[in-house]
Amino acid sequence: MTMTAPYPRLLAPLDLGHTTLRNRVLMGSMHTGLEDREKHFPRLAAYFAERARGGVGLIVTGGFAPNVAGWVSPFAGRLATHHAAGAHRQITDAVHAEDGKIALQILHAGRYGYHPLSVSASRIKSPITPFAPRALSSAGVERQIAAFVRCAQLAREAGYDGVEVMGSEGYFINQFLVTHTNRRDDKWGGDYANRMRLPVEIVSRTREAVGPDFIIIYRLSMLDLIPDGQTWDEVVQLAKGVEQAGASIINTGIGWHEARVPTIATSVPRAAFAWVTQKMKGEVNIPLCTTNRINDPAVAEQILTDDCADMVSMARPLLADAEFVVKAAHNRADEINTCIACNQACLDHTFKLKTATCLVNPRACHETELVYTPTSDIKRYAVVGAGPAGLACATVLAERGHHVDLYEAAAEIGGQFNMAKRIPGKEEFHQTLRYFQRRIEVTGVQLHLNTPVSAGFLIDAGHDGVVLASGVTPRDPQIPGSEEGRARGQVLSYVDVLLRGNPVGPKVAVVGAGGIGFDVAEFLVHDGQSPTLDLDVWQREWGVTDPALTRGGVTRPQIEAPARQIHLLQRKSESLGKRLGKTTGWIHRAALKMKQVEMLAGVNYEGISEQGLAISFGEKRERAILLEVNTIVLCTGQDPLRELEAPLQQAGIAVHRVGGADVAAELDAKRAIDQSSRLAARL
Ligand code: FAD
Ligand code: NAP
Ligand code: SF4
Repeated sequence: MTMTAPYPRLLAPLDLGHTTLRNRVLMGSMHTGLEDREKHFPRLAAYFAERARGGVGLIVTGGFAPNVAGWVSPFAGRLATHHAAGAHRQITDAVHAEDGKIALQILHAGRYGYHPLSVSASRIKSPITPFAPRALSSAGVERQIAAFVRCAQLAREAGYDGVEVMGSEGYFINQFLVTHTNRRDDKWGGDYANRMRLPVEIVSRTREAVGPDFIIIYRLSMLDLIPDGQTWDEVVQLAKGVEQAGASIINTGIGWHEARVPTIATSVPRAAFAWVTQKMKGEVNIPLCTTNRINDPAVAEQILTDDCADMVSMARPLLADAEFVVKAAHNRADEINTCIACNQACLDHTFKLKTATCLVNPRACHETELVYTPTSDIKRYAVVGAGPAGLACATVLAERGHHVDLYEAAAEIGGQFNMAKRIPGKEEFHQTLRYFQRRIEVTGVQLHLNTPVSAGFLIDAGHDGVVLASGVTPRDPQIPGSEEGRARGQVLSYVDVLLRGNPVGPKVAVVGAGGIGFDVAEFLVHDGQSPTLDLDVWQREWGVTDPALTRGGVTRPQIEAPARQIHLLQRKSESLGKRLGKTTGWIHRAALKMKQVEMLAGVNYEGISEQGLAISFGEKRERAILLEVNTIVLCTGQDPLRELEAPLQQAGIAVHRVGGADVAAELDAKRAIDQSSRLAARL
């Protein structure tokens, strides 16, 4: 039997004239934090080299500023000197040694610069930075262009195969393109021909300086998603101008950072913006690259089959799995560790100035330090619990050569991820479980489902060591009347709602507004329907439209009525959701507000009766009211479940705790997977 080559379009080479890319996968630019200090370049080189070895067609680095004014933040990565170019050699050499190609992204932040030296077209502060930029003089604009050109020349000197000129996401170049941020009346402002002069000049002067045999990608904002953004005619005019100026590839940019529309979060439908790039097909002759929420080779292949683009950019999916392309090419797509678009370890870290990594792959950006070497001392381990912590630990132990028995009380692997995956907008969590299921098979972990183990069982089994990954138990806040409420079916835990499917009435109080409280509220307002699985509904809810109809492609959202009336409550007086993810918390808050969820802070829970939940506010227990609700769902945190530990230790067995079984407070899957992978790398 002959096997057809998988993903023929995605894996087809792309001829750029002077050079050929080995496939259509572009690793999109991501700031990892390793760009900012030369001392981290060996780690950056190892990180990119793994992705090149994994088969990526063209890597784009995180953004490097062409000058100090263009910094994203003080002392951010910058390429402006011959000395700096020399330091980059280790990165380009490492990628070329793996037959890869790499382009340096030139990123000038303009008014998004988080420092007092920022510059822009006009002195208009952005809503997401505290510093107003200095408005550039005409000579100042010329100096910025010269800095772009010099940066590209230095990139060439450093051995890069090309550059990406960052023209989207609301950064410096984008700021010149729209009247929202450009109020100039010289040749760099006014009508669109003037406003688009900057990017065209940057590309044409760069092409002149670097010669014909160097890749210039232009990242073009095709959908600004801000009021007063570009019209589609303007976007097309710019694309044609940039092509004529000498760009080799046009990459797609979606949404300014200040846009109030999610563009990459997990609740964004897969390939939600491929239609935008498709609109550009036929307008220019150079290859077009599409982007955003493409995390699966089949989705990427479909995009190319549908002629939406000539290339597909994936950024976070290559943090999650360096071998994405080779696995796809060798019919092993089911082994891909899929990016679940959570942002928890990548973008959230970047915004907190921490080195980026990946929730599902803690080795990302830590390739030199977290290494899973084969063991020379093979042992037998029991891992108790197949939640994220147990799964990561068991599979890394087995990958290293240990014999592993993984015991799970439930009928399926996944632990709490089996609840997370049921939340509308968190469908991607299924993928992590699919990955681990396959990983268990590949590494040879002995999985025992429906097997709640006792200390006696483990003592008798005689393993060399036990890893306790038994997770957590939901906390009962002991609200007066809750026992009776439970008996009536009125009081439920999040587990009752999400896993056991207990019925929930039309009026609900969700007690506790952590990540789980927010998720339960999201689950209950949608009644199982997920806008993430229906692009039209999702676009209507967030007001995304065709930029040919409305400037910037944003319009008034049309929200479907909520399935239930929800009150979301917490004791703390701070605003609800304040501690959710840095880059995604606003989305959760906005989504629930759209569904008229009433958010109450500073609440005391006075008691539960058949009529509902009595609450008061503040330390003085004022403004007592009764929330007349049919159902009260407790999402009040979790306590560790580790009753097996003491008897095992007493029997002299080495016990290691990971995940929720170790520390339940502020536990998330990022910590669970990172901690247990690191333990498994050591044992
Ligand atoms: P668990 O996932 O609780 O797994 C423990 C496992 O051990 C269970 O399967 C249990 O059956 C098994 N077990 C216990 N005792 C025994 C025994 N004696 N024998 C055999 N098996 C046993 N985290 C994030 O980072 N991002 C999110 O977006 C996110 N969303 C979430 C949404 C929801 C609705 C929920 C409920 C959780 C969410 N979490 C999220 C939290 C995340 O799921 C947990 O942090 C993670 O599952 C903890 O992993 P764990 O392996 O320590 O424990
Ligand atoms: P959590 O974030 O600790 O929230 C628990 C909530 O319950 C808080 O609102 C807390 O607020 C309240 N609470 C705690 N003890 C209480 C008590 N005794 N009585 C009444 N209220 C009480 O925990 P979680 O929501 O259970 O989530 C568990 C973990 O999963 C979290 O650490 C989170 O990181 C992770 N998670 C993440 C996401 C995500 O999207 N990233 C989603 C879901 C879960 P007050 O004390 O102010 O009332
Ligand atoms: Fe994807 Fe989350 Fe990993 Fe970031 S941390 S790469 S969003 S899975």
